[in-house]
Amino acid sequence: MPSFASLIESKLSAETVEVLKTAGELAVSGDHGASDAYLVGGSVRDLVLGRSPKDPDITVVGKGGRFARSLAEAVKGTIVSVSQFGTAIIDTPLGHIDVTTARSETYSQPAALPDIRPAAIEQDLQRRDFSVNAMAVSLVPQKWGTLLDPFHGFADAARKRLRILHDKSFQDDPTRILRAVRYSVRLGFSFEVATAEALERDMSYIDTLSSARLLAEIEKILLEPTRADILRRAEELGIIGAISPSLRVTETGLKAMEQFGASKTPVDELLYVACMASSMTEEEATAVIERLHPDKDWQAVMHGAATFRDLASLLESPDLLPSEVVELLERVPAPVLEFQRIAGPKTRQREHIEAYLRRHRNIRAEITGDVLAEQGVPRGPLMGKLLLELRVARLDGKVASRDQELELVRRRLPILLSREASESDNGNQRPTGAAVP
Ligand code: ATP
Repeated sequence: MPSFASLIESKLSAETVEVLKTAGELAVSGDHGASDAYLVGGSVRDLVLGRSPKDPDITVVGKGGRFARSLAEAVKGTIVSVSQFGTAIIDTPLGHIDVTTARSETYSQPAALPDIRPAAIEQDLQRRDFSVNAMAVSLVPQKWGTLLDPFHGFADAARKRLRILHDKSFQDDPTRILRAVRYSVRLGFSFEVATAEALERDMSYIDTLSSARLLAEIEKILLEPTRADILRRAEELGIIGAISPSLRVTETGLKAMEQFGASKTPVDELLYVACMASSMTEEEATAVIERLHPDKDWQAVMHGAATFRDLASLLESPDLLPSEVVELLERVPAPVLEFQRIAGPKTRQREHIEAYLRRHRNIRAEITGDVLAEQGVPRGPLMGKLLLELRVARLDGKVASRDQELELVRRRLPILLSREASESDNGNQRPTGAAVP
């Protein structure tokens, strides 16, 4: 087996190498809950591929939780979380370190949560998704840098291919179908023949996944810089349709995703949701929400995309007043409008959206409810009506100053008050024809 000592030392910072050496030394000292320690998973895969791994993943044979506490103390880190399965996250000045307990997993039925037991490192590698993620590098001093590669991940990395470890892998855990497409695009890998066949054959097992696990995988895709290509590939493979027949990604949506993703500043995930939802009808949005149970913001964007479809044609009308545009567009969440602004048709609707986002959505009357109260306007629905009228007048350019607003209040207040009085009189009248005692 090749030695990774020099690779580790060249691809990781000196401080990270120190942390890994400390982990290996703690493991051999025998007093910290573990008897062996390895760098595993994505960290090793990235080293093999000549990439700099992000935060290191360490797996220990023994008790990961106890070991993580000792390691945190030794490297002056703090424990962020420890789970019942012996996994822990340590926060250090260098970033996070994930510590897991080597374990075996068995599945009682497809997509069920696995039965977990502490195990040897070989069994731990056996439970993993793809051969390139199933390698480990020893961290203990006597074996420092030795690669453990029982599933020939090294050879697969060299051939740039993704391979599952056994024929039922996608059935056991269908999130691996989404992971497969995510990694294949990110790494530029193809699927090994049997893996491609199993993926196609087992696509329907996606149905057995819980909403939470499915949604978590979609969120991971949206975090990737190559998100649009991943979704494009997932669509080609039929994975998007397998998630929900109501979920569709369109080329327009994907192109917009690429455009948002190219921004230098961080992009709100909801913009990507708007890109995914852009072609959905209300029924489709409802069906996708039922399948994924996303949070309220996602739901609002999905419904909002459908709402926009319904009102888009109204925005083409030539003589809409700004206040009418505002009334229409205020029903639509901002990410949907941002999407339409860059991807919608370049017609009058785009001009309206641009004007709304740039100026009109922030326009309010200058005078506030407190000023109206000083003018003798009772607080309540009538005050709300007046404030709305003032805003409409501002938007449509009928008033342009505080004095003109006050003038409008003086004109409208008596009318609104008398209308309110007559409405309440009517409300108090006995219905005609009712039996009067
Ligand atoms: P990334 O660069 O995307 O974070 P990673 O490989 O570190 O890649 P994680 O999701 O953090 O990915 O998982 C860590 C490791 O745990 C993986 O490398 C893989 O070996 C294993 N793993 C994660 N999810 C699964 C799964 N569903 N089935 C089997 N093994 C998995």
